[in-house]
Amino acid sequence: MAMKITMLGTGAAFPDPDRAQSGILVTLDNGSHYMFDCGAGTTHNMVRANANPAEVKTVFLTHLHHDHICDFPLFAITGWMWNREGSPIVLGPKGTQHFCDHLFEGGAFDSDFRARGAYGARQNNLDAVRPDVREVSPGLAYEDEDVRILCDWVEHIPREISECFGIRLEAEGRSIAFSGDTAPCEAMVKLAKGVDVLFHECTFPEVFIEYRAKGNVGIHAHTPPTDLGKIAQKAGVKKLVATHFGHFDSTSPMIKTAGAPHMPVDLMGPHLMDDVVRDIRQNYDGELLLAHDLMRIDL
Ligand SMILES: [Zn+2]
Ligand SMILES: [Zn+2]
Repeated sequence: MAMKITMLGTGAAFPDPDRAQSGILVTLDNGSHYMFDCGAGTTHNMVRANANPAEVKTVFLTHLHHDHICDFPLFAITGWMWNREGSPIVLGPKGTQHFCDHLFEGGAFDSDFRARGAYGARQNNLDAVRPDVREVSPGLAYEDEDVRILCDWVEHIPREISECFGIRLEAEGRSIAFSGDTAPCEAMVKLAKGVDVLFHECTFPEVFIEYRAKGNVGIHAHTPPTDLGKIAQKAGVKKLVATHFGHFDSTSPMIKTAGAPHMPVDLMGPHLMDDVVRDIRQNYDGELLLAHDLMRIDL
C-alpha cells in the first residue's frame, strides 16, 4: 500500500443528515496527510476515522463555495487545541488569503482567538491559526519530498467571482484526481489521465440539473452521470468514485420540504442511485464506486 484515501464528506450544499459536505483525506504510508476541501462535518469525520486534524499539514480548497470551506475554522482551531506545530499550509484559488485573513486574529473568531490565546499552552502554537496561504495557478500547485499536486481550472463558478480547481495528486507511483465541482470539462479529462482513482462530482442527475437551470435558485454547472461516464472512459481511469451528491438520494423530510425550490423533490430518494449507476455505465465500463462518508480506499 502506498496511500489510503478517506472520504470525509460526500454531500453538497445542504446540511444533509446522511452526508458531510465535501472533503477527502489522503494519507501516505509515512503518515503525511493531505486534505482536499473542508466542508461542514469533515472535521468530525476525520476524528471518526482516527486522523488528527493537528497532523494535517496541507489543505487544498478547490473553490470557495461554503460546502468546500466552512469547516476550516473548526479544523484549524482543533489543530490549535491539539498542539499543531506550525501553520497549516492552505492552497486554494484567489480569495483564499482574504478568507483566511478574516477568520482568526482580528476576524470572525477574534474573541475565541483572544480568549483561548490567553493561556500559555495556546500561546505556544499560535501559528496553528495563522494559516500559510498559497494561492495557486494552473500547473504545479504544491510539491514536497513525497507528493506532487497539479491543478487546473474547471468550469463551475464564473471565474471573475471565484476560480474553481480540479486536482491531480501523484505519490509513490500512484495517482489520483479530484474534480472539485464542475460541469463536464476537458481540463478534468487531462488531469485524470490514467489515474488509479478519479474522484468526480456527481451532484445531480440530468433531470435535476434541468430543473435548476429553469429555477434560477443556484448554480447548475455540475456533471450529469452520462457525461461523468464519458469523462472517466476518455481519461482511462482505473477506478471511478462518484461523490458530492446533491441530496437527491435523501429521505430527510426537512430536505424534501425545504429543498422544493431547488430540486424536483417528488423524484428524490435512494433509488435514484441506481439510475446514476445506469447512466454512468452508458459510457464507462471500468470499476465504479458510489462514495459514502468514511469510505476508505487503499492504493
Ligand atoms: Zn459543492
Ligand atoms: Zn461549488
